Amino acid sequence: MPDDEVPVLIVGGSLVGLTTAMLLGHHGVPSLSVERHAGTAIHPRAGHFQLRTMEVLRQIGLEERVRAKSLEMYSATGGIIAVESLAGRQLATYVKELNEGVEGLSPTVRVFINQDVLEPLLRERALELGATVHNRTEAIALVQDDDGVTVTLRDLDSGDEREVRARYVVAADGNRSGMRRRLGIGMRGYGRLSRSITIYFRADCGELLRDRSPGVIYVHNPQLRGFFRLDRTAGKGFLVINTVGADVTQDSAVDVQAGLTEERALRFLRTAIGTDMPMEIVDIANWQAEASWAPRLREGRVFLAGDAAHVVPPNGGFGGNTGVQDAHNLAWKLAAVIKGDAGAGLLDSYEAERLPLCVLTVQQAYTRYATRVVPERGTEGVEPAIADIEIEIGLVMRSGAILVDDDDDGVLHLDPSALNGRPGTRAPHVALGDGRSTLDLFGSRFVVVRPDGDGVDDWAPPGVQSHVIDAEPFAEMYGLSAGGAALVRPDGVIAWRSRSGAGRDELARAHATALALSPQHAPQTRTTARR
Ligand SMILES: Cc1cc2nc3c(=O)[nH]c(=O)nc-3n(C[C@H](O)[C@H](O)[C@H](O)COP(=O)(O)OP(=O)(O)OC[C@H]3O[C@@H](n4cnc5c(N)ncnc54)[C@H](O)[C@@H]3O)c2cc1C
Repeated sequence: MPDDEVPVLIVGGSLVGLTTAMLLGHHGVPSLSVERHAGTAIHPRAGHFQLRTMEVLRQIGLEERVRAKSLEMYSATGGIIAVESLAGRQLATYVKELNEGVEGLSPTVRVFINQDVLEPLLRERALELGATVHNRTEAIALVQDDDGVTVTLRDLDSGDEREVRARYVVAADGNRSGMRRRLGIGMRGYGRLSRSITIYFRADCGELLRDRSPGVIYVHNPQLRGFFRLDRTAGKGFLVINTVGADVTQDSAVDVQAGLTEERALRFLRTAIGTDMPMEIVDIANWQAEASWAPRLREGRVFLAGDAAHVVPPNGGFGGNTGVQDAHNLAWKLAAVIKGDAGAGLLDSYEAERLPLCVLTVQQAYTRYATRVVPERGTEGVEPAIADIEIEIGLVMRSGAILVDDDDDGVLHLDPSALNGRPGTRAPHVALGDGRSTLDLFGSRFVVVRPDGDGVDDWAPPGVQSHVIDAEPFAEMYGLSAGGAALVRPDGVIAWRSRSGAGRDELARAHATALALSPQHAPQTRTTARR
């Protein structure tokens, strides 16, 4: 007999595990997260958070807290540039200001905030929403059957072992995922790119920045390549080093860890800063830059999310953000199935919707690594770069739970201005005029939005909220004309759209499909007369 039972057990209590716990709590489903470490992340790692991640945090009431913390540490106007060294010439500007060009696309903004500062906020919110997190606890085995998964946990302090029975398991246990290996899922892609290091340091770099705002600063010189992330005072930060030496086509160039001593690290830091000044190394972390994905995101009742499912080099800042999107896609589906609101088949849509986008994101991160860090290695196997904004809010998903338009062209990404509310994409932001966004209508349940109608709820099937929106340019942004309607899922993705003349029965069928319910199990449309 298991010692405990829980609807969802999450292996890994870091960025993605905590986000999953928080979102499950938001949908009313308790979870247990187990995490080997005593607390949340100790290293900054992820620092660049995209619009879509911030929109997810906004849905669960964390946006303001995260933005405030971000401003304590980073300039709101930081960009992404390349220099010879901080004291040397500027070589390129990749992104002038983090939020330049994205005004009006979202009710929120991109932010710089370090993962070690973000994770405690996620953890606190997850606990507020009813999740349980056990630290110093390791998942060491799992066995699944038709009804659930039995996971063996070890208390790393006492050594005691116990078994927990869960209906579903989310493996958010990072790039070396033991769960993934236990499930026999290998990795595909580009593999290891470099044995990189991160040097955490203090040094007063303010004067060297001149008029440049601290954000992400790539360093290219004959001694090393990597990037700085400096806090708003430019007095502390970290330096990632991906290659050493002038000839980056040599394998030895991508082994930064070889022969590393504190003295050598200090030499690297001085070279990247470009001048001698008082500097102190606080810590050094060794890690592997890699670009790979798992070819399957599910085995039975176990789902892979975050770095367990895809690993990218940090160029582009996609890793953690993609993991948050995994969690966002998966959590409401697990909750709907566990609560009996959806058919178990809905869970098949997780891999169908996320895997092609994960592969695309790994390819794009690789493109940014190849072109920004090691351009001499050539462009073989390097996909053309697509704009960051398309990866953030321009992705297109397909699955049995999404009713695509008849003229669907199969593209995976588009400029957000070209999406026009097509099914499988993020429902667009339109300001509602009262300080809210259309996005504030989504997040908890299915919502049908229309440009006209009497606005009463009984037009929609039970459980579906109905809104008539007359704010400009709602109809245009959602591709609707008179009588049209769009059905938006709890994760803010458009599941179905009828451009005009949407019928109640058609909507009810679309809702049932979006929940993987057979018609006889679908919530019945009420037949009461419209008020
Ligand atoms: C230098 C650097 C810069 C980066 N910059 C960015 C950025 O700007 N933006 C961005 O989005 N991403 C960035 N990333 C990537 C980001 O840090 C990762 O994508 C993110 O940490 C993945 O989160 P995760 O929860 O999936 O995995 P992890 O953070 O690796 O967490 C997995 C957790 O699972 C635990 N665990 C593992 N096995 C078990 C087990 N059996 N039992 C219990 N616990 C277990 C581990 O202890 C760990 O805490 C960066 C990474 C690096 C290295």
